[in-house]
Amino acid sequence: MKKLYVANDLIEARLLDGILHSRGIGSVVKNESLQGGLGELPFVEIWPEVWVTDLKDWDIAIAVLEAFGNKRDLRDWICQFCKETNPGSFQSCWSCGEQIGE
Ligand SMILES: [Zn+2]
Repeated sequence: MKKLYVANDLIEARLLDGILHSRGIGSVVKNESLQGGLGELPFVEIWPEVWVTDLKDWDIAIAVLEAFGNKRDLRDWICQFCKETNPGSFQSCWSCGEQIGE
C-alpha cells in the first residue's frame, strides 16, 4: 500500500478512487469515516487519503492522478494581481498578463 493523494474533501477522494477503479487499479480511501461525525469531533486537520493497494499499479495510478489534476486545473482561476477571472485553459491572465500563481 502506498499513499497516492491527499484530497481536499471526500468528494474529491471518492472521485479519484472511482477513476482508479475504472482503470482496474486497486485503491482505498482512508480517513473517510473521520469526516462523517459532524459536530462530534473537534476540528482537526484530517483529510481523506487515496491509497494504491498494489504497487504494480503505481505508475498507472500516477498517470491517472496527473490526468485528474490537469482536469481540475481547467477550472476558472482568479488573477492574484488584478482579480480578473480567467478560464482554466489560460496560462496567463488575459487582463494583465500575469502567470498563474500558486
Ligand atoms: Zn491579471
